[in-house]
Parts: sequence; C-alpha cells; structure tokens
Amino acid sequence: MPETDTVIRAMTDDGAFRIVAARTTDTASAVVAAQELSGPIARDMADLVTAAVLYRETMAPSLRVQCIVRFSEGAGQLVADSHPDGWSRGLLQTSTPETPPDIRKLPATLEMMRTLPRSDLHRGVVQVPESGNLSEAFMRYMQLSEQIVSMISLGSAVEGHRPAAGGFVVQLLPEASEAEAAMETMTRRLEGFVEITKRLQASDASPTQMVEEIFEGMPFTWLHRSDVRFGCQCSHLRVMTTLSLLDRSEIQELVEEGETLSIGCDYCGASYSVEIAQLQGLLSAS
Ligand SMILES: [Zn+2]
Repeated sequence: MPETDTVIRAMTDDGAFRIVAARTTDTASAVVAAQELSGPIARDMADLVTAAVLYRETMAPSLRVQCIVRFSEGAGQLVADSHPDGWSRGLLQTSTPETPPDIRKLPATLEMMRTLPRSDLHRGVVQVPESGNLSEAFMRYMQLSEQIVSMISLGSAVEGHRPAAGGFVVQLLPEASEAEAAMETMTRRLEGFVEITKRLQASDASPTQMVEEIFEGMPFTWLHRSDVRFGCQCSHLRVMTTLSLLDRSEIQELVEEGETLSIGCDYCGASYSVEIAQLQGLLSAS
C-alpha cells in the first residue's frame, strides 16, 4: 500500500522512550503549493508543518497548536497550524514575497502555542540557532519550555520528483530507571538520524519504518496512529463573521460600491464571494 500522511506513537516496553513520528509529505507539499513557495523557505515551511504535527501529538493531541517562526527586523513570519481533527495549514506573511526572509541569514525566534480549554494559551518562545536549524530550535523549546529531554529531527524535500517530508520526536521518559545509560545508547543511535531527508526520500517517509529503525532491537509497543492532511478552517460563515466586525460605515461603503465582494483565504487560497444583499443583511442585523 502506498504511504499516506500519518502520525504514530510508540513506546519501548522498558518504559524508557516514547517516540512520535510523522509522514507529512502530502500535507507539507500542499501547504507549500498553496503559499507558492520555493527554495529554502519552502523547506522551512515544510519543516514547520511537521513540527506543528509532532508538537501536537507529543504535548496535546486534542488541542489546537500553532508554531511561528518570527524573523527579526520585521521581515515577516512563517506560521503552521495543526488541528486535532488532523488537518494542518501554513502561512508566510512578509512584505517581500519575491525575496522571502531566510532563517540562515536573519535572526529569528520559534514560538510554540497550544490553545487550552476555555481559550487560555500555553506559549513558549526560543531563539532559533544561528545555523537556522529548526530541529534544534524545536529541541531547545521542548527542553526550556516543557522541561522534556527529547531528540528531534525534521526533514523535507518538497520540490523535485521525490517529495518527502516528516520527522520524529524521541522522548526520554522521566520514570525510566537507568535513565543515563539509556539516554547514552539512544543518543549514539540517533547520530545516524540527525539529517533524515535522504532517509525519508528512500522510505517514502514511512513513519512505521522510522520507528522500527530507531527502536531496532528494543521491544516496543505501538500506541496510536492518526491521519494527517492539508486543510483549513475557513468558511463562508467565518468570512461573514469577520465582515460583521467592521464599522457600519465601512460596510455601507462596500454596499455603495455595488460590487460582489471576493475574499480569499491567505492560508489555503479558497475564495468566497459576498453578495451585496448579504452585506446589506449585515447592516440591518447590527
Ligand atoms: Zn482557508
């Protein structure tokens, strides 16, 4: 069977390690296409989408999460969302789309957020290392903000004829006995999994294969598997809700212009038309 985008969780039977691994090839490719990205920023976007999926599955499978790379000097930001229903989306916000900002050249921060019940936010920010390595930035976030020792690798090749994207989070569980020795073994093993893009391309980014290779020789149990896909939460209703927040005078102006309004979603590119009658409806409702 051909691989599809999934995120899976497994744990070693000695209770020492948990792994979350994801294939995001189709999701990340769709995000990159919707945002019309190419070159380094396309790979960064793909990696950020993978980070969002892994972050949600590791910390908060039932919550909405958002990861943001914020470039210094107001150069813009990269945003990736992952939703408990399985969909993810991404956005590049910049005033210079022809020459998008590059995390290898410009200082940036990585911000990770999850929406808690009752709309509270859990939020942490770390500096992206000078190398621009997002896997390292994500690890730094897990260590500093969540106090979780983890080893993380993200990889992507979303352009070209062998697209692949994915990654993993290996977490040392605090209750592990002989934690130090176990960590040493795992660290040595993961030296071969720092740069995973070629591996992902060779295996069609199979998360199952990734877990089997990383846990090779260690008895482990599969815990959970769920689908990942490109998606968005925009809708005609959301467009109308946003319009209803405009000043009455602004809506009046749109009505007087007399043309059907066409509003596009910056995330997925969907387009929504709003008829004059619907705008008039907003005026009579308010
Ligand atoms: Zn949308």
